[in-house]
Amino acid sequence: MNTDRIPLLDLSAQYETISDELHAAVDKVLQNQQFIMGEPVRQLENELRTYIGARHAVGCASGSDALLLALMSAEIGRGDLVITSPFTFFATAGAIARVGAIPVFVDIDPLDYNLDVNQVEDFLKGRHPLSARFSGQMKNVRAILPVHLYGQCADMDPLRDLARRYNLYLIEDAAQSIGSYYKKQQAGTFGEFGCFSFFPSKNLGAAGDAGLLTVNDGKLAEKASTLRLHGAKPKYYHHMVGVNSRLDTLQAAILRVKLKYLEHWSQSRREKAMRYRELFEEADCTIDTASGRKQLPPDAHDTGAGLVERQPGRILLPVETTGDPASGGRHIYHQFVIRSDRRDRIQEALGKAGIGSAVYYPVPLHEQACFNHLGYTRHDCPVAHRASRQTLALPIYPELTEQQQQRVVDTVTGILRGETAGTESP
Ligand SMILES: *Cc1c(COP(=O)(O)O)cnc(C)c1O
Repeated sequence: MNTDRIPLLDLSAQYETISDELHAAVDKVLQNQQFIMGEPVRQLENELRTYIGARHAVGCASGSDALLLALMSAEIGRGDLVITSPFTFFATAGAIARVGAIPVFVDIDPLDYNLDVNQVEDFLKGRHPLSARFSGQMKNVRAILPVHLYGQCADMDPLRDLARRYNLYLIEDAAQSIGSYYKKQQAGTFGEFGCFSFFPSKNLGAAGDAGLLTVNDGKLAEKASTLRLHGAKPKYYHHMVGVNSRLDTLQAAILRVKLKYLEHWSQSRREKAMRYRELFEEADCTIDTASGRKQLPPDAHDTGAGLVERQPGRILLPVETTGDPASGGRHIYHQFVIRSDRRDRIQEALGKAGIGSAVYYPVPLHEQACFNHLGYTRHDCPVAHRASRQTLALPIYPELTEQQQQRVVDTVTGILRGETAGTESP
């Protein structure tokens, strides 16, 4: 039996394919000694603006700072409310709290784990269970902050309509979704701001921290660009208090090399995802969602639980709710996330077989201790709660081999076949 380790993500494999180019790019920066706001920063901003199809692009120090700068540019602060997803990396809500605003967590869709548009609408109309708790503060709602989770866009048309109708900012957390499409349009171009992260494990990863904001409006772009330089304009003259959040020249030079390969990598990730799909389907252990949302059992709509709990021994594969590229959508598989009521046992078996996997995310944000004072209970977002108990990310990266994928699938299906009682999820 092959026992080589299969990591969740293998960045060394990627590095080997482009190391010469990376070294040349880094050398050039070292020779120029322009470490702060050097030429590669402007070049990268331009290239990414073009790639994403945005009007403006502003580099910054991280994805978290991109979120922070978007909120600061929109002058969202103390006492304001921002509607967002509880099922995301902490930074999404962390940025909201950092500016003194309050994250309003409404629940997610059980198929794609993105913000549930109906929940957002209900909240804005004052008929959501949370509405009573925030009554009297509804005039302070300032923004909707959807996350394009795992590489797939949230349902942006209705979210954009709601933002317009209620005069709210629309800020996209696109940290996991560079190059993903919704109706032929790329993540980061729907709202006033798109926030991108180049954390090393993201699809376009730097050699450290880096981030970028896409901005639709020229004045807001100017403001974000000034705020990242302490709010100085011109230098040493401050009309605003900003932060120090620049994209390092070294990181920009590295990202420019990698950007040339991003399309190829995204394509390759999609191919790996399709291959997983074929292998799992051959093993006859998947839950059929081809018939669509309307065919789901009623409790699947309530919490998503019915999807897997009614079919023990079967797994839910990622659902491409935005459609395939032929229909204008594109999931770029930052993560390949399966769902099962035997999640923990599957993860344990993968671990024993030397295969990496991860839970994104084990504690939804409405249940985080730092937000206790906001009074949420786990019952406020039951879909997110269930997802946190049942989802698991499997290895996916362009260099993953056919044999490695087969081993991952064999290990997962071994658990599904070997055991019958599934009573894990609370
Ligand atoms: C990675 C990530 C961030 C934060 O990006 P950093 O560059 O690590 O600060 C924000 N939101 C989501 C959804 C992310 O995945």
